[in-house]
Amino acid sequence: MTISRAKSTTRFPAEFILVAAFNPCPCGYRGDPRRECQCTPPQVEKYMGKISGPLLDRIDIQLEVPAVPYRDLSAKRAGTSSEQMRAAVNAARERQAARFAGSSTRANARMSSRLVREHCQLDAPASEMLKGAVTNLGLSARAHDKVLRVARTIADLDAAETIRCDHLAEAINYRLLDRTLWT
Ligand SMILES: [Zn+2]
Repeated sequence: MTISRAKSTTRFPAEFILVAAFNPCPCGYRGDPRRECQCTPPQVEKYMGKISGPLLDRIDIQLEVPAVPYRDLSAKRAGTSSEQMRAAVNAARERQAARFAGSSTRANARMSSRLVREHCQLDAPASEMLKGAVTNLGLSARAHDKVLRVARTIADLDAAETIRCDHLAEAINYRLLDRTLWT
């Protein structure tokens, strides 16, 4: 971050996490089983087109959050607790610290393309899966590397040394907006 004032310019280190949300269509009910969407395909297309492709391409994880049915909202069953989540994240962070020991890289998200090639090697079935995703979803080179970084993190959260097909499939699913949403 660069702050410029009349007398001097100062640079501060800065890192940020962008978290953004938007409706699936102008009326907000597209894909909602409880109410019918009233939007026409051109309206949805226009709405989705407000976000530029190059911007979307730079967002690591894109996923759909469906409406929560009332019975789930009122359910007593507890999901993963914050403590469990914290322990899983810390364990994954430790795996990454060990992986990048002695280098300036600290997390999978910061891997250069060279490091991605080094640490995100896929076996034959996973390789085929990624190839299919790149072709079918039209993934850019940037998105291809993002999928691998996210898959590496999913494998780390699973305490797995190698990235398996299920890790990769989950990462590919997080590129929801790379495919056309309105078809
Ligand atoms: Zn709609």
